[in-house]
Amino acid sequence: MVFRKLKGAASTPARYTRGVRRLNSSGIERSRLAWALTQPRLVQTARAEDSCLLCRAGQVNEAALCPVCQTMLSDEESRLAERWMNGVGP
Ligand SMILES: [Zn+2]
Repeated sequence: MVFRKLKGAASTPARYTRGVRRLNSSGIERSRLAWALTQPRLVQTARAEDSCLLCRAGQVNEAALCPVCQTMLSDEESRLAERWMNGVGP
């Protein structure tokens, strides 16, 4: 897929590519964190960008959460986050 797209890359608007890759620039809503922790694509993208799922701060851990947000997780959220930190995944 990538290789086939290379030829037409110049005519593909950069805006479209960014729109697909970027998450909400202000982070996700707190109420959606448990859901987000079950979405490998969200977690992995945030981790690759070193950008906390909730507040977009850096120094995120394996669950894509910064040290501050990590301390405010509910029981369910920390259980999901721990699965990422143990390498189990969602
Ligand atoms: Zn954070």
